[in-house]
Amino acid sequence: MPFTVKALQKTGPEQPFRVTTIERRDPRADDVVIDIHAAGICHSDIHTIRNEWGEASFPLTVGHEIAGVVSAVGDGVTGWKVGDRVGVGCMVNSCGACEECRADQEQNCLEGNVGTYNATDADGTITQGGYAEKVVVNERFVCRIPDELAFDAAAPLLCAGITTYAPLRRWGAGETVEGRAKRVAVLGLGGLGHMGVQIAAAMGAEVTVLSRSLKKEQDALELGAQRVLATTEENFFRDHRGEFDLILNTISASIPVDRYLSLLTPRGVMAVVGLPPEKQPVGFGSLIGGGKVLAGSNIGGIAETQEMLDFCAEHGLAAKIEVIGVHEADAAYDRVVAGDVHFRAVIDTATFADAAAE
Ligand code: NAP
Ligand code: ZN
Repeated sequence: MPFTVKALQKTGPEQPFRVTTIERRDPRADDVVIDIHAAGICHSDIHTIRNEWGEASFPLTVGHEIAGVVSAVGDGVTGWKVGDRVGVGCMVNSCGACEECRADQEQNCLEGNVGTYNATDADGTITQGGYAEKVVVNERFVCRIPDELAFDAAAPLLCAGITTYAPLRRWGAGETVEGRAKRVAVLGLGGLGHMGVQIAAAMGAEVTVLSRSLKKEQDALELGAQRVLATTEENFFRDHRGEFDLILNTISASIPVDRYLSLLTPRGVMAVVGLPPEKQPVGFGSLIGGGKVLAGSNIGGIAETQEMLDFCAEHGLAAKIEVIGVHEADAAYDRVVAGDVHFRAVIDTATFADAAAE
């Protein structure tokens, strides 16, 4: 039987969050039921529910940085048992049969992956995300959270972690150039950026943070960056021309992309993960001069997400978080947009217990 759980929901882009109940499906043979302990707030949740990426399906519960414990499994589930510590990220389904799925690249499923929220699932229902007490997910889209990682600090890894890990691996952040470590710039020190810094440093890169100010300098150094540069400084682009082998661009708003491309070495790569609502103009001359690469990256596959979780546990990495209660989500959204959160707000879903459902 389908069942109901408490969740945070918005009925429109301008509406506040309210605690209500939503339905979860009767677990199928290959489903696991997860008691959610923590849910991270990703800027993608904000873009989506504020209609910045197009019209969302309301009423909607977002959240795709989910950590918790398996509380039930379907008859056919082989990989998971009750009590397992697990996480769910940005996808909950894919065709499983196409070339991309077979290559562990479900995020690029040729039939389209099914997002954890605001997506139409195979049964026609609209998926509802992780700001909730429980979720029901196909077992293929579940990852193991290593014992070393606390649920709240692990939840953001399911999106911010894999979204930065995958392009850093893909573009060789840990490789050397003529015997020296790669010079990696992480552009934007928010939820994604702060994971990017830690992961790139653990891979062996020389990491520079490019932030709008030096306000977060001390934190950035503690995360493993060698230095922090303020992009608003006079002559910033002139002074740092050609310095970086790889730029990981995590910015959620419009920026002068061409000017940032000028910071790359010849053959340097800008890997873009930040997805501002507006189209970003790029002059081909900025790429042709120096033979540079402008590359996109979309989260990562499930196998690589597991690899990232294990990498974080092995290197002692996790998200630096601010834990909030269910009634603080609206305020947290404004703080994320202002760039004030250090560095991920995470909802403690235990606080649903004391919240009356409307
Ligand atoms: P976040 O925590 O808000 O961080 C974004 C950072 O961008 C801010 O901390 C800020 O860095 C910088 N920034 C914000 N507004 C800016 C502006 N007007 N000018 C210059 N810099 C600005 O967001 P997030 O959760 O890390 O997500 C970042 C972006 O990645 C979002 O667009 C999100 O949708 C996208 N995303 C993509 C994927 C993917 O698979 N590709 C996955 C997850 C998220 P400073 O304060 O340091 O300047
Ligand atoms: Zn996300």
